[in-house]
Amino acid sequence: MYSEYQDNLGFLASFDGEVAAAMREELGRQRGNIELIASENFVSPAVLAAMGSVLTNKYAEGYPAHRYYGGCQFVDIVEDLARERAKKLFGAAHVNVQPHSGAQANLAAYSAILQPGDTVMGMSLDAGGHLTHGASVNMSGKIYKFVPYGVGADGLIDYDAVRKTALECRPRLIVAGASAYPRAIRFDIFADIAKEVGAYFMVDMAHIAGLVAAGLHQSPIPYADIVTTTTHKTLRGPRGGAIFCTEELAKAIDKAIFPGAQGGPLMHVIAAKAVCFGEALLPSFKAYQAQVVKNAAAMADTFLAEGVNLVTGGTDNHLMLLDLRGTGITGKMLEERLDEVHITVNKNAIPNDPEKPTVTSGIRIGAPAMTTRGFCEGEMKEVASLITMAIRDFDGKKDEIAARVASLCEKFPMYEG
Ligand SMILES: *Cc1c(COP(=O)(O)O)cnc(C)c1O
Repeated sequence: MYSEYQDNLGFLASFDGEVAAAMREELGRQRGNIELIASENFVSPAVLAAMGSVLTNKYAEGYPAHRYYGGCQFVDIVEDLARERAKKLFGAAHVNVQPHSGAQANLAAYSAILQPGDTVMGMSLDAGGHLTHGASVNMSGKIYKFVPYGVGADGLIDYDAVRKTALECRPRLIVAGASAYPRAIRFDIFADIAKEVGAYFMVDMAHIAGLVAAGLHQSPIPYADIVTTTTHKTLRGPRGGAIFCTEELAKAIDKAIFPGAQGGPLMHVIAAKAVCFGEALLPSFKAYQAQVVKNAAAMADTFLAEGVNLVTGGTDNHLMLLDLRGTGITGKMLEERLDEVHITVNKNAIPNDPEKPTVTSGIRIGAPAMTTRGFCEGEMKEVASLITMAIRDFDGKKDEIAARVASLCEKFPMYEG
């Protein structure tokens, strides 16, 4: 599929050399780097084609068959396809496919069921939660009274502690989901706690949506009142968001997105979401997600065998967190070293990190993007070994690492045709 990509940068270059030149450099970077940022992926040429389309021209405020503009008969078909496929993929009663991003989806979901000042529980940023789960610098933390929960000394969510906090603060909403949590999350336990304290329960499955779609992680849909997601992470679609909910909340959620939080939907992106959901319904998508999990496990095994510590001692999903305490280098230093040899990662705080958030003692590593590129366990193990070399003996091994990265990338071409 990726070999059928037609490079359209030549066309753009004849109109705008400056933008096209930077875009060509970015394409080259994607081809020449080992991409391990856990929230990134490589979309199919079909998804790219839908995004780069004339649907960007259309205003379609409202929802299919209920628009505030004329001429929506064809974009209605597109949005209906996206909605029907998304509902089928996750077995959901209702979906809104218009959120411009995961952050927008979360803020709209909150506004659908909360009043300013309401108490909400969410995972703290340093334990692996997301900014939109109540960080003080984010609107969520300014509008609502967030009470954070974290992880225990073992790096795992302590469900008893979550329950205790919920009984104390009596939240109106409990949010589960994370950006840097390497283990399965028990949505059934969270749902029981929410029920016990009379709170709504919302799951932000942005990172694991692809795994959920493939049946490789417990689905939050049967347990949560609202489920938000991004479409561009493990789900491998365009940058964007979506909100699933029960029939009872459907009207409130739709109103919260439009007119509550957004104006016209991005119909070209919704078309790409429809294509993404269609791809995710194919058997090949299940096989892809299974390989993502196997690849993450293979990397984790290699790190552990080579004596590199992982938060929680491993992974259940698509990502892992290296714990660099005691190695003599920080997350920031390792991110910079790996950049030099064309391995892309992000520094990430580990639970109770002694370093500042701009430095950190951790590195987050995810398997989704390189699995799309065709890497299997053998390649992932090699990459883990190269990262271990960069931790232990960067000056001595830098040239060897860079050469092996280049040869791995050459073996798995991307967006070429
Ligand atoms: C990535 C992410 C988001 C935000 O998505 P954007 O599209 O970047 O706004 C929200 N929640 C979680 C848990 C995420 O990982």
